[in-house]
Amino acid sequence: MTRVFDEDLDARFGTRAIHAGQRPDPATGAIMTPIYQTSTYVQDALGENKGYEYARGKNPTREALERNVAALEGGRHGFAFSSGMGCLDSLMKLFKAGDHIVCGENVYGGTFRLFDRILRHFGLSFTFVDTRDPQLIEDAITASTVAILVETPTNPLMRLTDLAAAGDIAKRRGILLMVDNTFASPYFQRPLEFGAHVVYHSSTKYLNGHSDMVGGIAVVLEDSLAERIQFIANAAGAVPGPMDAWLTLRGTKTLALRMRAHDENGRRVSEWLANRWGAERVIYPGLPTHPQHALAKKQMSGFGGMISVEMGSKEKAATVLGRTKVYALAESLGGVESLISHPASMTHASVPPERRAALGISDGLIRLSTGVEDIEDLIGDLDQAFKGL
Ligand SMILES: *Cc1c(COP(=O)(O)O)cnc(C)c1O
Repeated sequence: MTRVFDEDLDARFGTRAIHAGQRPDPATGAIMTPIYQTSTYVQDALGENKGYEYARGKNPTREALERNVAALEGGRHGFAFSSGMGCLDSLMKLFKAGDHIVCGENVYGGTFRLFDRILRHFGLSFTFVDTRDPQLIEDAITASTVAILVETPTNPLMRLTDLAAAGDIAKRRGILLMVDNTFASPYFQRPLEFGAHVVYHSSTKYLNGHSDMVGGIAVVLEDSLAERIQFIANAAGAVPGPMDAWLTLRGTKTLALRMRAHDENGRRVSEWLANRWGAERVIYPGLPTHPQHALAKKQMSGFGGMISVEMGSKEKAATVLGRTKVYALAESLGGVESLISHPASMTHASVPPERRAALGISDGLIRLSTGVEDIEDLIGDLDQAFKGL
């Protein structure tokens, strides 16, 4: 079980991002954690080893990443997985047939697909509610409920869940609160501080930040919960290879720098869009016109680079998507480069059309993942893309 080095929790965020979980390599003094590209470890004698036996269970590169991200989230234990979905699938193995989970209705499309198309057949049941209203969470809880799962802000509609209220409900009802913190990253939001029991990420996104691997990571505070997740991680085996762990570790070193730059650009682009296209059509928690702006300021210290825009029609959406040059047309988000996408036909294509319509993911909605390029080039790109619209 990978536990944070206690002294790493004393440093501030930017320092933790660079140093937490890593010590110079004991064999050589190499300052960067090596990529321990190995499946097994030679044992000194029968029953004697250096703490490592087989790499599904433990790998030093992976452990450094797990400690690093755990320290960033203010947790005690981290668990890296082969993807965000692999992470969530493993977390769901904490539960058993008959258990019920209250889930945000506007979660990532792949999360909905995993629950609805696979895990339901294993006897888990899910109620999807609008978690913007804590009362709706409370009302959905039954005697079989074991967990509340929320994503805040959501993808792509940027809806927020009041984490303190959700944490309070989970505590009162004696159930787990699990939070997908992919969009905000621990730089802007740390759910464990609000009473969450598990925080998890698609580390493919902001944590790695360079669009060069796929991964997931979960962080918890409690030792007993950590032991159960460690057992699942080793038994089910959805673990990442050391190269991907190392790339993510390289990414988290600059998390503070990158998130500040994403946030600065996100604010500037959303303001430009609000002036050019109408504030009511631009969805960004940092805009004062966002219906939950006050809550955003309360539980987040910044808003990042994710912006959604209602273009009004699929044709207008397609026009913008076809014209941008700096914003590249692609799924995914959170990298240093700017991306633009069409949720209805890309990330949320796995959500049935009626459900998409009910949620508000229209065919005219576009989503921008604003990167860290020079702001003049980003706004110039959007300016030419919106011409005549
Ligand atoms: C991408 C994403 C996931 C899934 O993660 P993968 O690494 O693609 O498996 C889960 N939640 C959110 C919010 C995401 O953006």
